[in-house]
Amino acid sequence: MELKKLLKDLCNAFGPSGFEEDVRALIREQVEPIADKVEEDALGNMTAWKKGESDRVVLIDAHTDEVGIMISHVDDKGFLRFATLGGWDARQFPGTRVTLKTKSGFVPGAIGFTPPHITKPEERSKAIPTENLAIDIGVKSKDEAAELGIVPGTPGILDGPFVSLPGNRAMAKAFDDRAGCAAAIKVMEEFSDTKLPFTLAVNFATSEELGLRGAKVSSYRIAPEIALVLETTTAGDFPGVPGHLSPCIMSDGVALTVADRTMLTSPKMLRFLQEVAQKNEIPHQLKQPLFGGTNAGEIHLSRSGVLTGVLAVPGRYIHGPSSVIDLHDLDCMIKLAIAAIKEIPKRLM
Ligand SMILES: [Zn+2]
Repeated sequence: MELKKLLKDLCNAFGPSGFEEDVRALIREQVEPIADKVEEDALGNMTAWKKGESDRVVLIDAHTDEVGIMISHVDDKGFLRFATLGGWDARQFPGTRVTLKTKSGFVPGAIGFTPPHITKPEERSKAIPTENLAIDIGVKSKDEAAELGIVPGTPGILDGPFVSLPGNRAMAKAFDDRAGCAAAIKVMEEFSDTKLPFTLAVNFATSEELGLRGAKVSSYRIAPEIALVLETTTAGDFPGVPGHLSPCIMSDGVALTVADRTMLTSPKMLRFLQEVAQKNEIPHQLKQPLFGGTNAGEIHLSRSGVLTGVLAVPGRYIHGPSSVIDLHDLDCMIKLAIAAIKEIPKRLM
């Protein structure tokens, strides 16, 4: 499938942490025809395997989940309270639209806010704690909400449909990390007719946003020797962010992690990725330490240690419903991952 269409479908899919089944179904359609085996584990990781000339494993990882919400309480009038799944800034919530997923389908709703007509000026400048917010799904009672399948534990997301922007840019929710998922599929497609010297495992990980939970168990099962994590990371090149607090820049190419809160990239791996990028003339940049964290944090510490690198697409306003990326950067990430896989047997194994 064409990259932009694939990315659009993946971003529009519903998949907060722990509820990524729609995303997995889309990915499965793409990888099943080209993989030797596709397996899912108890937590919700899905791994596509491509058997090579040896049993030594190289892992490509991307996480399927997006930051989301979960209904915590339904009151007598049918208003819903919610908890957060993953790292949110509560200032984004008031007045936004949500989609909740029940056993029988999707339910739309609005996170209510008090209009300026009835608030005092000093109230308008304050952030409202999430616990004080409520979702309105247009019902009048707890029973009506229950008829729609809304109960404590119902998962949800903030709406943010995929929209193309000028140039090669786009706006959507969930680029973190559906951009990585799209890239991982494209990398797998590239080698569909090739017998690699090693076995390739492409893992689509669950629950990264809840503390790298999926990667913790998948890296044990897959037992890789080398891993590349494909991510979307924070670009800070917009008004209000000083340069020293901007982890990377949109449209400047794929971002390489030097160190973040979960991993210090081995200088051997970082040098390798930089040299492969230079040799292949792939635009790339170093991501400023120490912002963020990725599945690499768990993967590199699994078993007896895994040589791990992180490639990321810079995304503005990530962990929000209207993130912006440049597809040129995504293309750079795909090209570098492909070039690295070709070089790994010569340089790292
Ligand atoms: Zn991510």
